[in-house]
Amino acid sequence: MLITPKTIALASNMELAYRPYELELKHAFTIAKFSRTSTPLMLLEIRHEGYVGYGEASMVPYMGESIQSAATYLARVDVARLRYPFNFDEIIQYLDNIAPGNPAIKAAIDIALHDLDGKIKGQPCWKLLGSDPAKMPLTSYTIGIDTPEVLLEKLKDGEACKVIKVKLGRDRDKELIDTVRSVTDRPLYVDANQGWTDRQESLDLCFWLKEKGVVLIEQPMLKTDPASNAWLSERSPIPIIGDEAIQRLPDVANAASIYNGINIKLMKSAGMHEAHQMIAQARESGLKVLIGCMSETSCATLAAAALAPLCDWADIDGPFLVSNNPFKTPEFSDGRWVLSNDAGLGLSHF
Ligand code: MG
Repeated sequence: MLITPKTIALASNMELAYRPYELELKHAFTIAKFSRTSTPLMLLEIRHEGYVGYGEASMVPYMGESIQSAATYLARVDVARLRYPFNFDEIIQYLDNIAPGNPAIKAAIDIALHDLDGKIKGQPCWKLLGSDPAKMPLTSYTIGIDTPEVLLEKLKDGEACKVIKVKLGRDRDKELIDTVRSVTDRPLYVDANQGWTDRQESLDLCFWLKEKGVVLIEQPMLKTDPASNAWLSERSPIPIIGDEAIQRLPDVANAASIYNGINIKLMKSAGMHEAHQMIAQARESGLKVLIGCMSETSCATLAAAALAPLCDWADIDGPFLVSNNPFKTPEFSDGRWVLSNDAGLGLSHF
């Protein structure tokens, strides 16, 4: 079924419009379990009394959402229920009651409402969320698994970033790290995307990676094997960060017994409100926090950047990896996103 742009205006003063968008990647993206060249998005606008809030759902295929599932979900949303002033606890409850799952399209609604809220209040989202721009962490630049020649080419695209994230989890992990190390001495994050299997081999690799300047390791082993991840987290000289295993707020409760930290992404957490709660709960549990992203435009990037100063590390590199971002790339300086004083997300159009 072809999904065309559509506007739903069920409430007199609240209007929701959406359109599908295919976000093209500069390079085919290969990680431990698959490879792809573009990502389907649903772009949202929620309008209220002359203000427009922008939202985005990035639906990477392995997460199970699609343009079709997003359109089906949106058709069930009664925008009259999104009353201003927004009560985000109630709104998330309402969105979850419509259907379980669907975190990316729920995030799109939540992001658009945060943008709208900031614009109505004349305040930047980061300020409303209690972020201090002076605490903005560096953002890493991710390179997928590839030949040494292509890796070197990708590194050039990410020259503005002061940290490199390397996707491992296949059989040439040490070779890839050595290739990256032959051209840069920047700190490295490693993401194994559940690709490691043997506990002792994984631990040996952690010690080797520590020597190579690796700062953190994401989701080394299967998310369905908490015992092995916990075993590694207890022994690894580098923090082990749960990503695929950590989706929404209830997942944070047990995370401290399995991981040293968690990777929060808006497309998993159903948006900014719950991500904010996850950060707070992780802090209470003594967990480190990485804020990450999917293949995203400037819209979801700015939404994550608004929360990033509350986190230890950031991996919000969407705009660097795509070739048809429909929005202007936000200001990036000294390896960090720069939060503006514009109301809402601070999103700029071409
Ligand atoms: Mg990851």
